[in-house]
Amino acid sequence: MSNEKILIVEDEAIVAEDIASRLERMGYIVTDIVASGEDAIISAITTPPDLVLMDIMLQGKIDGITAAEQIYTTVKRPVVYLTAYGDEDTLQRAKLSGSFGYLLKPFHERELRVTIEIALSRHQAETEIQQALELAQMLRKEAEIQSQLKSQYISLASHEFRNPLTNIKAWAQLLQLYGHTWSEEKQQKSLERIQIAAEQMNQLLEDISTLGRTDIDKNFFHPVQINLSQFCENLLKIHQIMIGDKYSLTLICEGNCEEIYLDEHLLAHLLNNLISNGVKYSPHGGKIILKLSCQETEIILQVQDQGIGIPQGDLHHLFEPFQRATNVGSIPGTGLGLVIVKRVVELHGGTINIQSKEGKGTTFIIRLPRRSTIDN
Ligand code: ADP
Repeated sequence: MSNEKILIVEDEAIVAEDIASRLERMGYIVTDIVASGEDAIISAITTPPDLVLMDIMLQGKIDGITAAEQIYTTVKRPVVYLTAYGDEDTLQRAKLSGSFGYLLKPFHERELRVTIEIALSRHQAETEIQQALELAQMLRKEAEIQSQLKSQYISLASHEFRNPLTNIKAWAQLLQLYGHTWSEEKQQKSLERIQIAAEQMNQLLEDISTLGRTDIDKNFFHPVQINLSQFCENLLKIHQIMIGDKYSLTLICEGNCEEIYLDEHLLAHLLNNLISNGVKYSPHGGKIILKLSCQETEIILQVQDQGIGIPQGDLHHLFEPFQRATNVGSIPGTGLGLVIVKRVVELHGGTINIQSKEGKGTTFIIRLPRRSTIDN
């Protein structure tokens, strides 16, 4: 049994009924019998068949060839022509319309079946080739975007590397030329400057490589089930040890955060960035709060500090690479941390917002959809 669906377009009712009963005997399903090209187009769109058997001379304003062309462009269904006219002109027009077969009336049941089967398999093969070509084109485009992104990062990064590198070179030269005439204190200060610049370059390299991985390789995203409250508690403990008691780090947890599907490495990147920013941009110390709210459909993470805040006019561009607010003064930074944070949030399918008041503090609010398994 074939079970393929066929639309019959034939303006002689008796012939149409005869073809329909022959097709049904052969195991095909007849979706509709129509007598005009216009009705054929409507029927093919509303009840798409696998194939159309189309008479060429029809009632109505358009003939079978025009109707077949429109059906092929709108619903991509193959058409086999059935006609009593075998003249060269009609044959030529039918050929040019991209027909999948041609049967001259009267025809035998066997001919009908063979022509239909050949048309169906040719159409399937063409569809598969088309899909493969589209996929290849999509992959090529994706590769192009990735390589554009890569070169964008490389050119941005080389620009950002220049500053600390110039500092290192200049201070090393000065030390070499005049170091012996400087006081111990001045020598120490210039060595410190070299160290700071090297540290800046190190941080840049680390941020860029994280960014490269999250952007270029989507396979980098591996959600697993974690106990989020425990995870955050441990993370805060480590930060607290590093920063001492000038700051107090507090965890507030609402809802059941024990079984949450997240990528823990990416999440660690995200929280480390936001917490260390909270500390870094609170030069006089203070309270930093990490608030978790695990709701049925989403997880809200908030990192709040009482630091220098962000001027209103700077808020909109801070998620772009190497952008920093105008009030950072001498606080060091690469302007890449928030780009990574945003990328991590996007990989989780979430959103990020900033609420901030200059001189009062900043809150980062992240909303992530709650997954119930690793895959969804
Ligand atoms: P950076 O390495 O410069 O800190 P980020 O991408 O992490 O880079 O942050 C971008 C900019 O956003 C920072 O330079 C700073 O101006 C601003 N910023 C980020 N977090 C805070 C915060 N908690 N308080 C005030 N400003 C912040």
